[in-house]
Amino acid sequence: MVWAKVGTGAALAAAAGLAARYAVQRERLERSWLHRVDQKLSAIGEVEHLSILPLVERLVPDVGLDGEPGVSYLIRADDTTLLFDAGLNSSGKARSALVRNAENLGIDLRSLDGVVISHLHADHVGGTMNMLRRTFSLSADALEPRGLPGYVPAPMRHERAAVELTTGPRVIAPGVAVLPPLPRMLFWAGPVAEQALVVNVRGFGMVLVSGCGHPGIERMLAATEVVLDVPIRAVVGGLHLPVHPGAAYLVQAILGSPHWPWRPIGEQDVAEAIDAIRTRGPRMIAVSGHDSTPWTFGAFERAFGELYRTLRVGEELVVA
Ligand SMILES: [Zn+2]
Ligand SMILES: [Zn+2]
Repeated sequence: MVWAKVGTGAALAAAAGLAARYAVQRERLERSWLHRVDQKLSAIGEVEHLSILPLVERLVPDVGLDGEPGVSYLIRADDTTLLFDAGLNSSGKARSALVRNAENLGIDLRSLDGVVISHLHADHVGGTMNMLRRTFSLSADALEPRGLPGYVPAPMRHERAAVELTTGPRVIAPGVAVLPPLPRMLFWAGPVAEQALVVNVRGFGMVLVSGCGHPGIERMLAATEVVLDVPIRAVVGGLHLPVHPGAAYLVQAILGSPHWPWRPIGEQDVAEAIDAIRTRGPRMIAVSGHDSTPWTFGAFERAFGELYRTLRVGEELVVA
C-alpha cells in the first residue's frame, strides 16, 4: 500500500516535471525562433537541373526496394550530389535499407559531395544509437569517406566525416543552401532544432526540402523568405502531420507532437499547412509518408491536385 502510494507520487512528480519543462521551454523557444533568422543570403546562385530521389521513405512502389519510417533523399543539383538525412536503420543492420535501396537504384553512396542532417532524431541520423551518441551513419559499416562534409543543425560528431554546425544561413554549393536551424519544443521528446535545405532552380524558383517539419511549415516558409528573396515554388519532404494516426503512426503522433498531450496533431494543423503553402503559389508539393498519414495525403491531394505527390522510395522528382 505504502509502495503503491510512493509509486503514484513518483509518477505524478515525473508528469509535473515534464509539464513544467514543456511550459517553460516552449515559451522560450516560441519567442526565440524568429531571432535566429536575421541574416540574409545575398546570392545563393542557381542550378539548371534538380533531382530529388528518395532512398529511404516509409512507402515503396514495388518489390525490390525497402521501406522504413525514416528519411533519406539523394539531392542532385547540377554537379553537386548531397544526401539529405540518413534514414532510420532501426535494427542497426550492416547493410541498411538506405544502402540496399541505393544499390538497387544504381546509386554509389561513396561519391557524395556532402551529407545534410535535418535534425538529431533517430529516423534521420540512421538509428537510435546514433541519436544518443550525437552522430549519423549511412549504415553500420563505415561508408562515409574521410573528410566528407556533414552539415548538422546541432552539435554532433563523426569519426570520419567533417562535421560543420549550421549557425546561420549558408550556401553549401552553387544554388544550394542550408537555412538556420529552427527550434521547437516537443512535449515528450524535448527541444529539437531542425534545418531545411533549399535549392534555387533557374526559371522555377526555390525548392524547400524538409526532414520532419517539426518547426511547422508556416515558420519554415517564413524563415526562408527572411533569408532569401527567391519565391518558394516547391515543398518536398516531412511535414509532421500524422493526423488520425492509427497504430502505424502512433510513435510519430505522440513523440513528435509539439502540443500538450490532450491536443493531438489534427485536421486544423493540416488546413493551416495547406494555406501557408498555397499562398506561395507552389508548382510542386511532395509529402513524406514517414510522419504524415494517408488522411493527410488525401487533404493535400484535394488541395493541390496534379501538383501533389506522395514520396516513395525510388520515385524521383525532377525540377528543370
Ligand atoms: Zn523528428
Ligand atoms: Zn522524422
